[in-house]
Amino acid sequence: MKKVATVVILFLAFGAGGVSMLGGRSDGTSQDTAPIIEQPEDPAESKLLLLVNKDNKLPDNYVPDLSSGLPIDEVLFDDFVEMRKEANREQVFLMIASAYRTADEQEKLFNELGAEVAAPAGYSEHQTGLAIDFAYNGRTQEETDRMWNWLSRNAYRYGFIERYPEGKEHVTGFDFEPWHYRYVGRQHAKNIYEKGLVLEEYIGRRGA
Ligand SMILES: [Zn+2]
Repeated sequence: MKKVATVVILFLAFGAGGVSMLGGRSDGTSQDTAPIIEQPEDPAESKLLLLVNKDNKLPDNYVPDLSSGLPIDEVLFDDFVEMRKEANREQVFLMIASAYRTADEQEKLFNELGAEVAAPAGYSEHQTGLAIDFAYNGRTQEETDRMWNWLSRNAYRYGFIERYPEGKEHVTGFDFEPWHYRYVGRQHAKNIYEKGLVLEEYIGRRGA
């Protein structure tokens, strides 16, 4: 009887907290291609986990919602504003260097910078409106370091993940980019941060 009660309590705690998305893996381990979560059916959820990398093209019919007036999707606007405000209070000033790019802009960048640095049109996360490059031009090295440190410790609280971290180059196909953050929503960001994963590992898909 006591055991039944415990199970019910666990079910309530986990079911209500969104942890049910962890796809039944309760041991916290991960394998190369085993998904940590199931692909969600809800379109809003699958947008948050949309994978765009060198192997996974942006769907042709994808249209970001840019109604906020900033070059970011509406879905992350509130969290971005809140994160920026919190960072300001700690003397870290977050500015956007580059966020949403059209296919034409990405194509131009690819032609200018080459395949080593830029993705071809259709394969850049910047076309989703869910990615932000934070600006470091015009700052001292100390200010820049403080910004990267702040972001890597706090961005997940607002739904953003470090997209191309150090040591995961073989999974993401990108060199370490301390400036590039990707919005996945707060619950997924927390899961990804706490497990030390990248998006490819979290959804069980390989990168480049
Ligand atoms: Zn970027």
